[in-house]
Amino acid sequence: MKVKHITFHRRRAAIHEAGHAISHAAHGIRVKSVSIQQTGPHWEGWTATEWQPGITPDSLPETDLALACGHLSGHVSEQIHAAPLPPASNIEEIAHAMACQEAMAAKGQDVDLQGYAWALLEKNRAALLRLADNLMLSRKLSGSRLRFLLREVSR
Ligand SMILES: [Zn+2]
Repeated sequence: MKVKHITFHRRRAAIHEAGHAISHAAHGIRVKSVSIQQTGPHWEGWTATEWQPGITPDSLPETDLALACGHLSGHVSEQIHAAPLPPASNIEEIAHAMACQEAMAAKGQDVDLQGYAWALLEKNRAALLRLADNLMLSRKLSGSRLRFLLREVSR
């Protein structure tokens, strides 16, 4: 699973990707790499993880929550650490997250996804900011360095 995110400033891109990575790591999803790069005037980022199944009628509630939170956490990370956001930021990811939340509700799991993601990222605030700071220095983090940066992340 490799998800591309487009934004404008390096710091915002770093904060955004760090949010995704923290959410994945907190839910036990292995993060292969986190990277940002400049394309013209824009910065874009990728957080690559091991393959994840989608939300299905039979998927586990924990899996559903991990996927839904993963979609929203880049946006929420920006809300916490890079507010105010430019207009219409992250609308596709928010739509994905809301679709996940609706699918979860249909299976009987009602969750305040925004509140959940916010609390999770705040709990791991130090690791998130450390990861973002590292992305300000290196455009790609992977391997043992990335594992080290994510070592204390928890739910
Ligand atoms: Zn994103």
